Amino acid sequence: MSIRPILIHPDPRLKKLCDPVPEITDDLRRLAEDMLETMYDAPGVGLAGPQVGQMARIFVMDCVKEEGAAPRPMVLINPEITWRSEALNVHEEGCLSIPEQYAEVTRPAEVRVRWMDLAGKTQEEQFEGLWATCAQHEIDHLDGKLFIDYLTPLKRQLITRKMEKLKRERARA
Ligand SMILES: [Zn+2]
Repeated sequence: MSIRPILIHPDPRLKKLCDPVPEITDDLRRLAEDMLETMYDAPGVGLAGPQVGQMARIFVMDCVKEEGAAPRPMVLINPEITWRSEALNVHEEGCLSIPEQYAEVTRPAEVRVRWMDLAGKTQEEQFEGLWATCAQHEIDHLDGKLFIDYLTPLKRQLITRKMEKLKRERARA
């Protein structure tokens, strides 16, 4: 396992539609392991393929927050939202590709997601709370969409400028 570099916004790869995963291969299994390790190391609760430069429909998440609770590393391949609740939820979101920027985003409070697991089996589960927010945020990544796309153009521009500055600083360091 290894930690992969996380792309920082703005990056054209974060704006692209990702391709479905055609089959489970050793490379994909390695990618999933690396993505989990990268996510836990960051630390974050979710990470999508394009954030590590892999333009494939895969994301990992673990939203277990309770102190001392067992982790629940999840790998979701070709995820699809099959149902959204009418009830909405406002959650302060952040993103490993937009470090240290947070904003409130309104999304359906609950979603049902269907995906393929690493064994190639179809899974379906209903998520709520942080899990629902995270799953929707990560699936957006696979469609080239970031949480700042839900904000006003002004707010988005402000954050984008900060990220451009951060990238210049990191390039110089
Ligand atoms: Zn993100």
